[in-house]
Amino acid sequence: MSTLVFYVKGSVKEPYRIIAEGEGENLRTFCNCPAGKKGAAFCKHVAYLLQGDVGKLASPSMKDVTELARRAKGSPLLAKAGDRVDNDISQAEAAGLASVAEVHAKFMPELEDLGWTTVLAERVGEQDKDRMELYARYKNGNLRVRPSITLEFVRFGYEEGSREIDWSTDVIGGSATPATLIPRQKPFGIVRADGGTLAGPWKHLSAALPKFLELARRGPIAKF
Ligand SMILES: [Zn+2]
Repeated sequence: MSTLVFYVKGSVKEPYRIIAEGEGENLRTFCNCPAGKKGAAFCKHVAYLLQGDVGKLASPSMKDVTELARRAKGSPLLAKAGDRVDNDISQAEAAGLASVAEVHAKFMPELEDLGWTTVLAERVGEQDKDRMELYARYKNGNLRVRPSITLEFVRFGYEEGSREIDWSTDVIGGSATPATLIPRQKPFGIVRADGGTLAGPWKHLSAALPKFLELARRGPIAKF
């Protein structure tokens, strides 16, 4: 079986070269970009090519792309490529969104279509939180008392000495006495109905949003 060769435009002048050998479970791909050369990394050039995206090919040969798609059937690389591209799309969705309020403005219609009732609450409480809350309904149609999922931005944390402490576990449940309110290093998080952490915390909204959307898009029937 012949080796397939593709050239893709990257961030440098010379196009990168992707080589594909074998098929099915034995399909192997190599790209000479910096990420691809590390070997263990699965670079975005291969991911997009396996997903059939020919937009970055320097000399698109549909015959070879179609042949690669045929050889890729049954390859674990396909699922990996799908994850990689989905993740990039989520990152792109996050780009340009600077706040929980902007996330609410952009995604409220989609999430309400899924059956969620969404609530935006800004500048709440002592730690100054912005919250986008997703409420499900009981079987009788009434709105649940607590939100199933909350995307939260918490401006401040509590510090004792130089240690950031958690109010509920360290102060109420423990012995710490918070001295100072400090800006949080990782202000974005996703919170469950009982107040526990579902995911995060993160420094950047671009990291929190993909996870939030992944959970929210399961819809209000899902268990969280
Ligand atoms: Zn590459």
